[in-house]
Amino acid sequence: MKISFQQVSQSFPLQGGTFTALDRVSLDIEEFVTVVGPSGCGKSTLMNIAAGLVSPTSGRVAVDGEEVHGPGPDRGVIFQQYALFPWLTVRGNVEFGLRLAGMPRARRREVAEHYIDLVGLSDFADALPKTLSGGMKQRCAIARAYAVDPKILLMDEPFGALDALTRVQLQDQLLRTWSSDRRTVMFITHDVDEAVYLARRVVVMAARPGRIQQVIEVDLPYPRTEEIRLSPEFAAIRNQVWHAVYHQ
Ligand code: ADP
Ligand code: MG
Repeated sequence: MKISFQQVSQSFPLQGGTFTALDRVSLDIEEFVTVVGPSGCGKSTLMNIAAGLVSPTSGRVAVDGEEVHGPGPDRGVIFQQYALFPWLTVRGNVEFGLRLAGMPRARRREVAEHYIDLVGLSDFADALPKTLSGGMKQRCAIARAYAVDPKILLMDEPFGALDALTRVQLQDQLLRTWSSDRRTVMFITHDVDEAVYLARRVVVMAARPGRIQQVIEVDLPYPRTEEIRLSPEFAAIRNQVWHAVYHQ
């Protein structure tokens, strides 16, 4: 599936005037795209518009040609702050969307089991979120998003709060899953290494007003491996992205 941002602008009222958070952003996303840029450049706003949580001031977003008017089951959203239902167990959280979709109980259990296993939380299926580490909560949020099988994943700094090792593990797991389903992913991060490691294309944004500064192709094969992560080719692209972000 394809997400198309067409001349998307967003402004907010500010001290009697207006503040332009996004200025005519046009972008097509298929496959795996990461978005990097300084704090406040409008990354989350752009993703919330794609999620249908925010309406743009002008311009439009379409999914396979259909204009987005609100959230939908075709788009799974994962935020940095887990956003799990605290009163539900891991299993309850993962089953939640399936129950909303009217899936029968036995089938729901089966599907939830599959995704809980996929993210390595089988031993914690009956645990409440408050008893889990940050990494485990985020695994649960990922399983919950995957369970409803959205064609598009929208991820807003999903690994931003995690330690470096957990982050690398979740990156690899995300890529493993992605290589079998090849769904469309829009992944926001402020980590340049993460942006390059995951993506086919890195979109670099600039602030004031929020806009696309540069789109950098990551011409590295999948599956991405540690060898690729440590290669001179990777370093060259990382440096290019770094430059675009920090010396724009
Ligand atoms: P990023 O995710 O890149 O850090 P955001 O999309 O969160 O940036 O925000 C972009 C800019 O828009 C910021 O300056 C932020 O303060 C402003 N902004 C975001 N949402 C609102 C809102 N609802 N009202 C006013 N200003 C907002
Ligand atoms: Mg943000």
